[in-house]
Amino acid sequence: MVLQSLILATLLTGGIQGTPPQESPIPSESFRKEVAFDWLKKQCDLGFRYPGSEGHLKCRDLILEETKKHCENARLQPFSHKWTSDKKTYSMWNVIGEQNWKDAKVRIALFAHWDTRPTADMERTAANRKKPILGANDGASGVAVLLELMRVTKNAPKDLGILYVFVDGEDLGPELDEMFLGARHFAKNMPTPRPDYGILLDMIGDKDLKVPVEPNSYRYASKVVNAVYGHARTVGLASTFPYTFGPEIEDDHIPLNEAGLPTIDLIDFDYEPWHTLGDTPDKCSPDSLGKVGRLLETWLLKPNPQKP
Ligand SMILES: [Zn+2]
Repeated sequence: MVLQSLILATLLTGGIQGTPPQESPIPSESFRKEVAFDWLKKQCDLGFRYPGSEGHLKCRDLILEETKKHCENARLQPFSHKWTSDKKTYSMWNVIGEQNWKDAKVRIALFAHWDTRPTADMERTAANRKKPILGANDGASGVAVLLELMRVTKNAPKDLGILYVFVDGEDLGPELDEMFLGARHFAKNMPTPRPDYGILLDMIGDKDLKVPVEPNSYRYASKVVNAVYGHARTVGLASTFPYTFGPEIEDDHIPLNEAGLPTIDLIDFDYEPWHTLGDTPDKCSPDSLGKVGRLLETWLLKPNPQKP
């Protein structure tokens, strides 16, 4: 993703009312944070996962194999892109799985990008800026949460349909016109029936996790923002998901929203090793993945399907 501009933390007006409850300790839930963290490490163990790399193909297969275990109609959504940097055409794939999609009353799409940045643009030296990043947080963290979550939501109430979408080509770049490629492709080729709304996870593995409201998400999908952040408060996660504006981010949610799918981006952009060689698993934590997993698990498995 790309930072658009830094907005000072501002308390949003309207939306959630009342005094926040004290943050309660996280009870043991069926979402297993250690398993999610293992998924993060497994992806990094495959090496760099940018289009054209060996790790890219291995990671695609890993995600597809797991998706087949827990979802119906697990499939690849292929596309290709001619990269301006080397004029070569690269094959890319979104990985998609459904849970109860056809018969549901409410349909939620969950997104995370699984590719990693081929260039460590934020490194200090020019030589390092040409190297690829490992993407423990920027790539693997969102995927890790979704891979564990799909096991948990397999037996969700039948009124609820969940689409797991692992998008490729988010971080190719170097510029915005060659990013969010998988999300753009999905936006043009949405399934029938379409999702009612979407939730995107990106960079949610940081040890010191804070996921404020992303302003573009609020602009496009304020009802979803208010509902999800209100829910975070009720499950004792208000300090991790503070109802204040964070920085404005360009990410996969932009083409999805532009295609008429209200989608929010849950992202912690306050991450020192962003787009550097230092984006490695030691900067991430099981606890952070666990908090995001718990937020989504409790949101999705509420007695009545969520339709803000
Ligand atoms: Zn990135």
